[in-house]
Amino acid sequence: MKAVVIHAAKDLRIEEREVEALGPGQVEVAIEVGGICGSDLHYYNHGGFGTVRIREPMILGHEVAGTIKALGEGVSSLAIGDRVAVSPSRPCNACDYCLKGQQNHCLNMRFYGSAMPMPHIQGAFRQRLVAEQWQCHRVADGVSINEAAMAEPFAVTLHAVARAGSLTDKRVLVTGCGPIGALAIIAARAHGAREIVATDVMAAVLAKALAVGADRVIDVASNPEELSAYSANKGYFDVQFEASGNERALRSGLDVLRPRSTVVQLGLGGDVSIPQNLVVAKEIEMKGTFRFHEEFSLAVDLIGTRRVDLKPLLTGIFPVENAVDAFEAAGDRTRSMKVQLAF
Ligand SMILES: [Zn+2]
Ligand SMILES: [Zn+2]
Repeated sequence: MKAVVIHAAKDLRIEEREVEALGPGQVEVAIEVGGICGSDLHYYNHGGFGTVRIREPMILGHEVAGTIKALGEGVSSLAIGDRVAVSPSRPCNACDYCLKGQQNHCLNMRFYGSAMPMPHIQGAFRQRLVAEQWQCHRVADGVSINEAAMAEPFAVTLHAVARAGSLTDKRVLVTGCGPIGALAIIAARAHGAREIVATDVMAAVLAKALAVGADRVIDVASNPEELSAYSANKGYFDVQFEASGNERALRSGLDVLRPRSTVVQLGLGGDVSIPQNLVVAKEIEMKGTFRFHEEFSLAVDLIGTRRVDLKPLLTGIFPVENAVDAFEAAGDRTRSMKVQLAF
């Protein structure tokens, strides 16, 4: 089978690999599509992020869906021919955090395509993937396999919404409208937000934010005053989803958040400085959010029942042989939101 393997920054290769042996409780999935994520792009463009570096060849990818081709011993919940979205979250279910229901903090997590541990956890951009049956979530008839493969990034934003607390009737600011920011708009709307305003510095990206349900978008590169107008009376928004990783986006959000509001940080920009005076005086809660676990099945369900429509975010599908072109396209915000590989 073919697999998409990263060796170092800008050194991405299509290689032949053996299909893994099928064990009890496992299924073999013919992967049909895989979405390129921000973390895949960090490995491709920079060889890693923060202190995490590629130290050995690693198959990339974790946003995949496909069709079941073989069943291991004892698999009863799935059948050959089922179309499934595969959750890349593989916690141990035995450590302290897993036992507390915080599987995303598992001490032994084997999340696909991660260079955090050594040896690296090999990813899912491959033609055949052997997965546990509990990772596989059946996709409703009529839902394209491409939409199904967006369950993973959508689950990330559903977890972010869960971190924020109830959004019913809340005014929400989303800063940064790449795939994750745009999906956060959809997740916030599904959770009852009253009003959603989104910001970015690129018109093409903001058009997508409108298409997926933002009430208003602001180009803070050309019209920063449109956002700062919301700072009157100590601010306007109850919740900010910060999906840009940009210090200025975080700061501009703090200016327009109301007292006792919440910032959920999704974007990763490294070290930033924060105006402590504002955080203290407005009693702002700052929260991180990391991956997801149980939200994956909710994501598949919301997509399958058509309560959300993620299709506007899909901007490109490339054959696996053209993976390098796909990664170059995915990294270009002027023309891409979510780019997928077809296997
Ligand atoms: Zn992802
Ligand atoms: Zn664990």
